[in-house]
Amino acid sequence: MTVAGDTIAAIASAPGAGGVGVVRISGPQAAPIARALLGREPRPRHAHLASFRATDGGLLDRGLLLLFPAPHSFTGEDVLELQAHGSPVVLRRLLARTLELGARAARPGEFSERAFLNGKLDLAQAEAIADLIASGSEAAARAAMRSLDGEFSRRVHALTERTTRLRVWIEAAIDFPEEEIDFLAAPDLRDELDATRAEYEALLAATRRGVRLVDGLHVVIVGRPNTGKSSLLNALAASDRAIVTDVAGTTRDVLRETVDLDGIGLTLVDTAGLHASGDAIEQEGMRRARVELARADLAVLVSDDAHAEADRALLDGLPPSAAVLVVHNKIDLDGTPARMETRSDGPHVWLSARSGAGLDRLVAELRRQAGIGESGDGTFSARARHVDALERAGRHLQAAAHNLAEARAGELAAEELRLVQHVLGEITGEVSADDLLGRIFADFCIGK
Ligand code: GDP
Repeated sequence: MTVAGDTIAAIASAPGAGGVGVVRISGPQAAPIARALLGREPRPRHAHLASFRATDGGLLDRGLLLLFPAPHSFTGEDVLELQAHGSPVVLRRLLARTLELGARAARPGEFSERAFLNGKLDLAQAEAIADLIASGSEAAARAAMRSLDGEFSRRVHALTERTTRLRVWIEAAIDFPEEEIDFLAAPDLRDELDATRAEYEALLAATRRGVRLVDGLHVVIVGRPNTGKSSLLNALAASDRAIVTDVAGTTRDVLRETVDLDGIGLTLVDTAGLHASGDAIEQEGMRRARVELARADLAVLVSDDAHAEADRALLDGLPPSAAVLVVHNKIDLDGTPARMETRSDGPHVWLSARSGAGLDRLVAELRRQAGIGESGDGTFSARARHVDALERAGRHLQAAAHNLAEARAGELAAEELRLVQHVLGEITGEVSADDLLGRIFADFCIGK
């Protein structure tokens, strides 16, 4: 069933000279427009060589015309694709011609929106298209492709299914009040609830990684003057994955330069500026340092062993979700071997920005924090909206567990689980229809 609508058209791809440009049309007028441009009935999913002509018969371009009849198309509607030479002028004229023939200019995202409304994609998949196009690293592109493929949605659905089964279970117990208390205390039910919560936690963690991949990891390199922060940044910038951007500033400006290392943005901050000071310039530096730190996902503290404790205290203003990684630089001076250690306060890496020893360990740790695994496998792209929905789902799941274990209140637990389902449905954009009764009859044999 397709959503009836008007016909939209847009330039879908417009590369520079030499490339192929595409004008895409979707809606009920796509087939009539195809007939008008081709001069005969096009065959479905067949590449026709066509002479695209203006109203006055003048030749606009010669190219390929492909018609994908509904519902087997990207949007689920009739879709027409016109491939022409990638000149912006040619494409604009071709688009104008389709508008004359009854289409209207599409709004941004309208093809994906129609694909969603027609059930071709769910909401998370539609969002993945935008993330794929905007991906700033190979890992982010792979992850977006995985979400577009439905990997993320499948995991959300699996959790929804599991939550629904639990709710069905509890609802069934409520139907037999004399047995309800025992039923709700059954170890099986507890186990299933625990397993659901574990699955939820794993999904939340993977979703957070997915958001980091899409947004990139914002890393602030902090430390006192002369600990070797600039040297470290330069050493990282020397990697062929790095894009270096100079940002103008005074010597006491916190923002000296940023480096983008495969989707990991690195910014330098001198923590000397974090000390209280009457100096106006230094106070401005402090303000900027705090701004940088407030939006950091990770602070790399380049420590000078003598000041390690005090420096750490300066990072108290970091957002709670941000992590700290401590770098012990200049190991070449005392012959300490390069290594990485996970301590209770987070990872520590011993390296030399000068010799480059241990730098690979730092990069590996940064990539891990950014959600880019060794192979980058298994990660899907996600958005802050999804994390927000999952966090709300988590609170309802927690409340359900509390109602079951503490209060033995089956109805309240079932209601919380219904809210979990509802909130998870927001991620994939489903309207959560209440099909619970049907499920009770389907899954349970009442006579037993
Ligand atoms: P920043 O003020 O923290 O940015 O520090 P710099 O990067 O400017 O480095 C301060 C001084 O330490 C410079 O003389 C660097 O050459 C030196 N330095 C930086 N890293 C190392 C290192 O790994 N080993 C040695 N021996 N010296 C280093």
